[in-house]
This record gives sequence, C-alpha cells and structure tokens, in this order.
Amino acid sequence: MLPNYADIILPLALPKRTYTYSVPESLASLMQPGVRVEIQFGRSKRYSGLVERVHDLAPEYPVKPILSVLDEVTVVTPQQFKLWDWMSEYYCCTLGEVMSAALPGHLKLTSETKLVFNPAFGDNFSELDADEYLIAEALLIQQEIIVEDARKILNKKTIFPVIQRLLNKGVLFLREDLQEKFKPRKVSAIRLAEPFRTKPDLLREAFAELSGKERQVEILMAYLALEKRQPFVRKQDVLTKAEVTESSLNTLIKKGILEKYDREVSRLSGYEDELVEVDELSQQQVRALDALRELFGDRSRDFKDQRGLEEKNVALLYGVTGSGKTRVYVELMREVIKKGGQVLYLLPEIALTTQIINRLQKVFGNEVAVYHSKINTQERVEVWKSAAAGKPVILAARSGLFLPFQHLKLVIVDEEHDASFKQYDPAPRYHARDTAIFLANLYGAKTLLGTATPSLETWHNAQTGKFGLVEMPERFGGLQLPAMEPIDLREQMKNRQMQSIFSTPLLENLQKALDNGEQAILFQNRRGYAPMLECEVCGWNAMCRHCDVSLTYHKHTDRLRCHYCGYVQEPAKTCPACGSGKITFKGFGTEKIEDELKIFLPKARIGRMDLDTAGTKSNLTALLNDFEERRLDILVGTQMVTKGLDFDNVALVGVLGADALTKFPDFRAGERAFQLLTQVAGRAGRKNKRGNVLIQAFDPKHPVVQEVLRGDFLGFVDREMKERLEFKYPPYYRLINLELRHKEPKIVNEAAAFYAKILRQKLGERVLGPVIPNIARIRNYFGQNIMLKLEKSAPVLSGAKALIRHTTEIMLGRPGLSQVQVAVDVDPV
Ligand code: ADP
Ligand code: ZN
Ligand code: ZN
Repeated sequence: MLPNYADIILPLALPKRTYTYSVPESLASLMQPGVRVEIQFGRSKRYSGLVERVHDLAPEYPVKPILSVLDEVTVVTPQQFKLWDWMSEYYCCTLGEVMSAALPGHLKLTSETKLVFNPAFGDNFSELDADEYLIAEALLIQQEIIVEDARKILNKKTIFPVIQRLLNKGVLFLREDLQEKFKPRKVSAIRLAEPFRTKPDLLREAFAELSGKERQVEILMAYLALEKRQPFVRKQDVLTKAEVTESSLNTLIKKGILEKYDREVSRLSGYEDELVEVDELSQQQVRALDALRELFGDRSRDFKDQRGLEEKNVALLYGVTGSGKTRVYVELMREVIKKGGQVLYLLPEIALTTQIINRLQKVFGNEVAVYHSKINTQERVEVWKSAAAGKPVILAARSGLFLPFQHLKLVIVDEEHDASFKQYDPAPRYHARDTAIFLANLYGAKTLLGTATPSLETWHNAQTGKFGLVEMPERFGGLQLPAMEPIDLREQMKNRQMQSIFSTPLLENLQKALDNGEQAILFQNRRGYAPMLECEVCGWNAMCRHCDVSLTYHKHTDRLRCHYCGYVQEPAKTCPACGSGKITFKGFGTEKIEDELKIFLPKARIGRMDLDTAGTKSNLTALLNDFEERRLDILVGTQMVTKGLDFDNVALVGVLGADALTKFPDFRAGERAFQLLTQVAGRAGRKNKRGNVLIQAFDPKHPVVQEVLRGDFLGFVDREMKERLEFKYPPYYRLINLELRHKEPKIVNEAAAFYAKILRQKLGERVLGPVIPNIARIRNYFGQNIMLKLEKSAPVLSGAKALIRHTTEIMLGRPGLSQVQVAVDVDPV
C-alpha cells in the first residue's frame, strides 16, 4: 500500500522534530525515508526537506501537500539519521539545525537560493529539455536569479526538480559557493634544458664540459637519479639530495644544462603519477602499531610483544611532535583499506594544508578524497557521492562527519586536542572528536585519537581505561626535542636589552639562523598591528561602536578594525575625549612583528601567516609553499603556525609573549597555553638537527611555562587535574554554557534572571550565574551567561538538557521576552 503522509525534517531551527505533509498519489511511489522533497512552510517560502518517515496516520490538523520529490535514490542513510538524532539530543539543538549543518549547499534549496550560470558549461543547450532550457537561458542573460524567479519563469507549481537537474548537469551553481575559487598549486621543478631533454645522448658532452667541477657534476647526477624515480623533479629535492645551495644549482642553469620551471600539481586527480613507496617503519612505530592492532582487536597476526591488552573502541596515540604518528596512521589505514573498509581522517580546518594532503595523496593516490570548507560545489558533490560509493579515504575537516559512509571502519582524529574541532556558532555546537566516536560506534568502527598534547578529557579517559593508550615518546630518527629557554622580559627591560619588542637573545638567535641559511618561526597569538589605540593623557581608547571591545589597528590598511563584528574606522589623530595629540598604539600583533623585523633584520625575507594573509593576497598554500621551498627566512604567525606543519630547516622558534596565553581568564587557559607552546615549539628542528625555542615572558616562572620548558606533560596534568576537581570542571564534571542575548540590556537581564531561577529550582547549586560575559556586548547584542556544572551521571545530564529545552520554551513565552536568543553550548571548550 502506498503511504498517505510523510514526516519531514526542515532545515530550520524549529521547535518540532518533524512536520507532517500529505503525499499526493502521483508522488506516493517515489516516497521513502532519506529522499528530499519540495514543500511549502509558512505563507510562501519553499524548502527542500528530508523525508524521515512515511505512514498512514492522519494528523489532527490540516496538512499541506508535498509539491515534488527531488531524489530518485536516498541522499541520507539510516546511520546519518541516527547521528543527527544523537547530535540534536546531546547538543541540545533541533534536528533541523543539525540537518542544515550536515547537508552541503547543493542538497539544500529554498525559494530564496541564488542561482548563477556556470560559465564552464558553455552554451551547448541541446541536451536540455524545454524547462531546463528556459531557466538556463534566463540565467545566461541575467547572470543571477533566485529559485522563486525560476518558478515564475516556468509558471509551474513545482520548481526544485528542474533546478536539481540543472545542478546535476553542471549548468548552474549556487551563489554561496562561488567565492571559493580553485587555485592549482605550483612547485618549483627542475628539468634538463634543451637540447639535452630531447636528446639524452648529448648529456655525455655536458658531463665533459663539467669535468673538474665536482659540485656541478654531483648536482647533475642527483638530478638524473631523481628523474629516474619520479615523474618530475622538485628543485628542493635536488638541493637536498646533492646537499648544495641554490647558487651552485644556478650555475648549472646558467650553463644551459638544467632549467627551472613551475609545475602545477593538480588536486583533483592525477596523483597516480606521484605515488611513492612508504618509508620503512621505525622500531617505535612498529611497537605502536602492534599495540594499536591489539587494542583494536586484530588478533590475526603474531605480535612482537603481546601485552594482553583489552580490546577498546577508542585509542589515544600520544606521541611527541615529530615522533612519526602520520606513518602509523598510514599503516593502519592501509590495513583497513585492504579489507574493503573506509577511513575518515579528521584534521582541524587550517591544518588541512596541501602539506598533509600531499603526504597522504602520495601514498593513497586517488583513493583519497578531500572535504573541507574551501572546496567548491562540484567537488563537494563528488566527495559526497564518492563517500556513498565507498571511497577508501576521506580527509576532512569536522564537517566530514556528515558524509554518507558505506563501510566506515576507522576514524582518525589527528590533533585531537585542537579547540577548533568544536563548532561554536551556529548550532549544532558539536565537538568533532566526541561526535566521531559516536559515529564510529554506529558503524562498528574504531577511533584513533592522535596528538602530542592530549586534551585533559582524552587523557582522563585513557587513564581510567575507557580509551586504550599508546605512547611514542621519542622523535623519529632519535632526534632530540628542541632546547627550550625562557627569556625574562622584565629583566631585559631593566637592563635595557629590549630592542622594540625583541629581546637581545631572540634577535641574536634570529641573526644566527639567517647566517646559517636556516629558518625561523615567530609566534604571537594576535593579528593586526596593535590591539589598542590609547590616549596617554586621559586614558581614552578606541572602542567598537557595536561591541564592547577595543579596536585593533591594521597598518597595511591604516584602519582600526573590530575582530568581533568587522566594523572598520579611520584611526583618530587627536583624542576625541580630551583633544590631546598624544595617542599611541598599545601592545602588538603579527603585523607589527613583521614590520619591526624589517628594521632589525633588513635582509631577512619575511612571511606572515594569520587570518589577514591566509585568506587574501598570498593565500595559505602559497605562503607555506614559499616557506617550504626556502624563499622565506622567517615566518611570523598566529596559532595557525602551530598546526601540524612539518618543515625541515627551522632552527629557531620564538614566542613573543607567553603571558597573554597563561593569564587568559578561562578555566582552560592553562591547558591551551601548554598545548600551544608545546605545539609551536615542536616546529623547531625537525630534521637531523636539534632546534632552539625561545619563550619571552614577563612571568617566565609561571607553572605552565615551566612545565612546557621541561616538557613535563605529566607534571602539568597532575597540577591541572587537582584544580579541575576542586573547582568542579571537566573532565570530572560536565559543563553546559547558556548564553542569552538581546539588544536591550534590561530585557536580557530579566530573561537571564528568570531562566536561572527556574533552573535553580531543580538543579540548585549546579547553576552558576547569570553573569555578564567577558565581552558584554557583541554586534549590539547584550549577553548574559549561565553555567551548569553537572555530575557525570546520565540521568542528571539528560534531566538538565530536558529542563533547558523546557525552560527556553517557558522563557520565550513570557511577555516581552520572545525575541531573546538562547545559545546552548554543551561541553564548551
Ligand atoms: P608527528 O605527526 O608525530 O609530529 P610526523 O609524522 O610529521 O610526526 O613525522 C616527523 C618526521 O619524521 C616527518 O618529516 C616524517 O617524514 C619523518 N618520518 C616519520 N616516520 C618515518 C619513517 N618511518 N621513515 C622515514 N621518515 C619518517
Ligand atoms: Zn585623551
Ligand atoms: Zn565590533
């Protein structure tokens, strides 16, 4: 029998889980859970909703009909539905909000969706049917129309199916995806110059010409050896293999024997020609692998040292920076793939650089698909489809959790400690690591968490036996961890040894690195030139008009900018409060470091990596490429420079001011500071040479700084855990943060007081606040925060979440409070 009704999930933050629609007879045979339908919601808006269930239970209220069906096959699997349900329960949000986050743009249509013509399609419309043709033609003329316009053009009741077909055929794009330009990556490569390239026989003459010039002969030999093994030869590889500098190579180029050219390395396909043999495993890697296989219940082989480890679903690989964790992942991945399984490899968004992508692509070739926010619609569609078709490896940012996997067997969460695995806004405010573990369980897959600086939650789980634990305490190749040294800024100042923002030892060591042809990384967790513009006479400082924060000065644009709302203004020349001309910049960011470096080290080639440069002119890839190929000597950056980068010529890492990290007012400040400092230090000296790390601080005796200097993770954990227990913080307790927002402080205050009162009636002392947040106003919205500290007991937690849903409803129902926004953040980071 054919169904009469369907329950639909809408991509909106609506109170009900699903909404019931009637199924017209003509569509009944197409209905099944997991296909999308076109429906009307509200007075005129249309959305693509998702069928969750079909049935014959007539609701008690009148229902609207489904207008059309968009998919012939399901786009969402039963496992995905289960994941969504869990997320909306656990993270206290609606199913519609999860759906919005989960589905890529091309699977979400509304009447307002903007459509643009895809110029790559050309003008061959012969394959299009009459409706498609009309829309394509309108687009060609008008460039951009919205879905509702398209409906009017065809004058039809339903429009989404036509749009979907045009999307599938590549005739049009969704507007939102357009900004994402695809840039091919270029590397400097070397090849034989003509005539040697086409007539290798002539090479003998070249060698004859070089007789006696050993260096150059070596370079040529190195090149020829590389050429035999590789489809093309990187300049860097020649330099490394022949152990020569660029100038020796240039001599050969001047002689017309070799030539330099840029080689495009495609990202989408064609990696097969770059495949390399994987490195042989080190002893430490073999041991780690054996332990992981045992933990994951692989009893099929003879382990070198059987430890009788109990099987676990989740394991932590705790390996110091440079211990070679990636090679271990690769081995486990190969084993999974060999058995027909799929691997999801998660990384923080900004760590998903070409560096790691290339590393995996060189091993797995076209078996890898990449999924993150910078890829365009077409690529997104491809990855979505390929995941469903069983693509062996998906390398992704946190949104990769939402793909329709077939045989997921292993999830790797690399850099598991990274705070950017937590989505903050909008809902669902989920943690990718924790969600990954749930996802893996759905598929009966294993989860491997890897890091050099475990989060305290994960460490706790490993200590209590919930997760397995495998350690790699040594760097690959027996390399020493970098030598670390604190620099007391107070002392430097007292002895007049500061030059601008640099201490004498830092400048000296930078100079030394430059003299040796080595590179350096400087870290400051603040972008822009200066975080504050202040009047020395009356203390006035430039604040944002819309937020309660000071504006950051950006010298490059000569503007003050708000880092919360983007508001921009010109810097004042005289104080608007007292008229004095004595206004100065306070503090410094990455831009100022770059500027000042140019004064003290005029010959250095400097690159800057922060949100301002990574997005714009020299994008992240180009920047990293330049540094990797040694066209830059010094890389200045925010925490972006700490994320999983592997360079082999970095002699020095400098931290400009550790105090900003250790003194941040948050219970996680110590943990973050330990992680950031350890991670950035780990970028130093990663190949055949010990690196140096200098940490400038006004308070170098701070316990976290000391623990970082000693590399004392266990000492740090010990001290920190005691505080967490005493003050009822994770991992011993669970936190839920509630943030209420409204444009009127009076209203948000009333709402928060009311909200907290209701929570207190049931939860008592577990409720803290309301308090005004660190930044009282953002984008003209005033905030009030309530924090819940909850025991880790399932009934308490689910009770608290139910209470939150209920209280939000009551509060919004009060006169005058219906417009208050409530953001629920479960397990805040
Ligand atoms: P981690 O991720 O643990 O910080 P990486 O995986 O980046 O460490 O490895 C550190 C360095 O050691 C890299 O340059 C990598 O190429 C090298 N390396 C790791 N394992 C091996 C191996 N088995 N053989 C050769 N080189 C290796
Ligand atoms: Zn003033
Ligand atoms: Zn602002």
